[in-house]
Amino acid sequence: MKRIGKNKCPKCGFGFFDNEPNQYQILEFIDGKFEEVKTEGINKRDLRIFCRDCGSEIDEKELKIPT
Ligand SMILES: [Zn+2]
Repeated sequence: MKRIGKNKCPKCGFGFFDNEPNQYQILEFIDGKFEEVKTEGINKRDLRIFCRDCGSEIDEKELKIPT
């Protein structure tokens, strides 16, 4: 099946990606339990994308847009 307009992982050619959650918590292990230090939001510019197949972090600039 031809997937026009879909980009592939530059490393393994797989076509599906995962992203990190937009928000994550920073925890410290204090006195035998986890304490939440802070919750950070990641803005869209810093969104990191990972290949679902090989797990490589994908640089958007490496993705070739079909012409
Ligand atoms: Zn890959």
